[in-house]
Amino acid sequence: MRITGDQYLIKKINKSIVFDTIRQNHPISRAQISETTNLNKGTVSSLVKDLIDDNLVYEIGPGESSGGRRPVMLLFNHVAGFAIGVDLGVNYILTVLTDLEGNPVEEIRTTLENISFDSVISTLFQSIRTLIERAPDSPRGIVGIGIGVPGIVEEKGTVLFAPNLGWKNVNLSEIVKKEFQLPVTVHNEANAGAIGEHLFGAGKDTKNLVYVSVGIGIGTGIIINNDLYKGALGFSGEMGHSVIESHGKKCRCGNRGCWELYASERAFLEQAKTLSIDSADSTEEFNLDWYLQAANEGNDEVIRLFHQAGEYLGIGLTNIVNTFNPELIIIGNRFAKAEKWISQPIRRIVENRALPYHRGHMKIAFSSLGAHSCALGAASVSITNFFSDMKISVE
Ligand SMILES: [Zn+2]
Repeated sequence: MRITGDQYLIKKINKSIVFDTIRQNHPISRAQISETTNLNKGTVSSLVKDLIDDNLVYEIGPGESSGGRRPVMLLFNHVAGFAIGVDLGVNYILTVLTDLEGNPVEEIRTTLENISFDSVISTLFQSIRTLIERAPDSPRGIVGIGIGVPGIVEEKGTVLFAPNLGWKNVNLSEIVKKEFQLPVTVHNEANAGAIGEHLFGAGKDTKNLVYVSVGIGIGTGIIINNDLYKGALGFSGEMGHSVIESHGKKCRCGNRGCWELYASERAFLEQAKTLSIDSADSTEEFNLDWYLQAANEGNDEVIRLFHQAGEYLGIGLTNIVNTFNPELIIIGNRFAKAEKWISQPIRRIVENRALPYHRGHMKIAFSSLGAHSCALGAASVSITNFFSDMKISVE
């Protein structure tokens, strides 16, 4: 029998419906799929056979019977392939291997001593290569690589501007694709973090949220109605450069008084240099972890500085609350480690300053994926792309 274009299209659509049903509801029987999808049992059986042949679905022993013979149950084969997610930070690279459900399997964290372009790229390649080697054997292998970068990223994966890395017009997706011959996507790190928290973290089951990535700079990822809001060209979310002091400090972006000059990790570390801290060891590196420990040991000056950073964060968050009316704001990235010290000042400022209608049902949370929001979010985009290759959209 010749299969016409229409039949082929319908089969592909039905197959993706059956596959999604299994992924979202497994373990599930063929009869249950037929009930859920309204596809007849013969069609379901034939499509399930295809999915089993594709290694995406497998059978397990009989489930509970509703009378009569106990049915064979179907499971989504979440280790049919693996994805790689990368958080390319300013002073570190975190690379995570996940299964097709986005569960982390392996990870590598490397500190970037040297942020010269060649050194960053070679460290990036090395960590991706190591994870590819460590990935368990699977029928589909590595389905894709997703990379989050602290900068402005154009849709095809060119990093237009990443001031903290000193990058301009770096076609990162091509560079990585060429090396590994795999699908590669590149994202702004806050957008990737927002996707990660929305799928797996503090933002699960939340339709409208803003993820605020507070690291060396500040970026935000905006989820509206369960979708990432990208803006016309994909550059939305640069809230770190919203002005909170009209005649304030000069910013690398060309403007003055940007929020991230007052509330980011870098701003905190610069301010901290002015503290009268005595240390026996002059070679000690005064980084965020050092100050967190000092605060834990009761250093009042350091604690006061964390409170001040929290207040400045609260000012920017107030603008976000009033603009987006989110259900949830998630504070993530490195500075979230200071939750104990910044949480109260943030909440106090938002409580005092945001419009009462907006803050009513709004929650402020700290990232529940910790340092992993961006890498897991980036990996999940590769998985989504792999699955959507199976689909044909009929709009
Ligand atoms: Zn700026």
